[in-house]
Amino acid sequence: MKNALSKKLNNIINFLFPLKHTCNVCGREIFSGEYFCDDCIKDLPVNDKVICSHCGRRVFNNEEYCNSCNGRETYFDRARSAYVYAHPIDKLIGGLKYHGKRYLANVLIERVVAVYYQNLFAADFVIYTPMSEERRRERGYNQAELLARAFCEKTKLELRGDIVIKTKETQRQAVTQSAKERKSNLQGSFSVVNKKEVEGKNIILIDDVMTTGATVELICEKLKRAKANKIFVLVVASVSKGEEGKLR
Ligand SMILES: [Zn+2]
Ligand SMILES: [Zn+2]
Repeated sequence: MKNALSKKLNNIINFLFPLKHTCNVCGREIFSGEYFCDDCIKDLPVNDKVICSHCGRRVFNNEEYCNSCNGRETYFDRARSAYVYAHPIDKLIGGLKYHGKRYLANVLIERVVAVYYQNLFAADFVIYTPMSEERRRERGYNQAELLARAFCEKTKLELRGDIVIKTKETQRQAVTQSAKERKSNLQGSFSVVNKKEVEGKNIILIDDVMTTGATVELICEKLKRAKANKIFVLVVASVSKGEEGKLR
């Protein structure tokens, strides 16, 4: 009886004082219960045009593969991204990464989950790009882990944080670094600690952004050396093909 009464009271309060939300892009007040206002939702750079069948980046011709993937082997088997890394997705990812807006992981993951359901992939478990303990303490959280958690909540897949670790923090990646310099900077920083659990497994790797793809490649290389079967990379946003240099 008491519960029914408080429920009724809550309904009245919610009716009289509807919960206010603000758009995550422009900050305007909205009452729809959505994350973005109607104008901003139209502007989100959804990656739903022509993409490379392998790396999933947006391409500007109608070829099946982008010029980097054409004829080249990668350690991951397929990669897909929900958005193109452009305004205002860059701002939202920045908010999640550097400004403590953890709730954005739940917002940004929604389309990633949709992309997962569009691509058939029977995963044994899900991992994320790890951060060194030192960096994690500094930031308080790992944004890729928050994304992977939100992803697993929605898909009911198993999350494994004990498979790959980052042993040492790499120098912050400078704008002037080439892909080769980035790779040597990253070399040796990731380690598969649970090799037995990886053998023969199909794994989903979650990350926030794919720029050159060097980090993802390196983790997948380690996983494949530990005899992982297939790896499907899912990221919130990727830099479109031909624009990696500009946004590196
Ligand atoms: Zn807006
Ligand atoms: Zn490609």
